[in-house]
Amino acid sequence: MFQITANIVDIINRKIFPGTVIVENGKISNIIREDKLNSDIYILPGFIDAHVHIESSMLVPSEFARLAVTHGTVATVSDPHEIANVLGVVGVKFMIENGSIVPFKFFFGAPSCVPATNYETSGAKITSDDIRILFENYGLKYLSEMMNFPGVLNDIPDVLEMLDCYRKEMMPIS
Ligand SMILES: [Zn+2]
Repeated sequence: MFQITANIVDIINRKIFPGTVIVENGKISNIIREDKLNSDIYILPGFIDAHVHIESSMLVPSEFARLAVTHGTVATVSDPHEIANVLGVVGVKFMIENGSIVPFKFFFGAPSCVPATNYETSGAKITSDDIRILFENYGLKYLSEMMNFPGVLNDIPDVLEMLDCYRKEMMPIS
């Protein structure tokens, strides 16, 4: 068991109160209100970065996590399309596997635009079939960052096939 007494930031009720957080087996088991507290320590839920490309940090996910937690970030929602542009599915698998070795939460999506458009000459291409494989083998839960809006607006078959694949599975598309 572990406990810490500090000012607790209750995000839902928009209050800050002195209290003690009890942690058992890695999870908060209780929060006890205290009458008084003289502390400049605040406890609040960890931040979730809703849009960050881990590769832009030039760090592998596990090292990104080590630095991000020092700033209060405990999770990300991330499209690994940058590494996918270079290495394809192998790169995405690497990001997922490397991220899984740390307690930080990486919510990776399946890259929808590799390459971003047909005018780009990246090193790899991710198809609907590739994404199905990533989905089935790695539990990705959403199609990420459909940047090819011209492809959507102009009914480009490859792009629509990518979207249809997810609509059938009722998965979110970001
Ligand atoms: Zn982005």
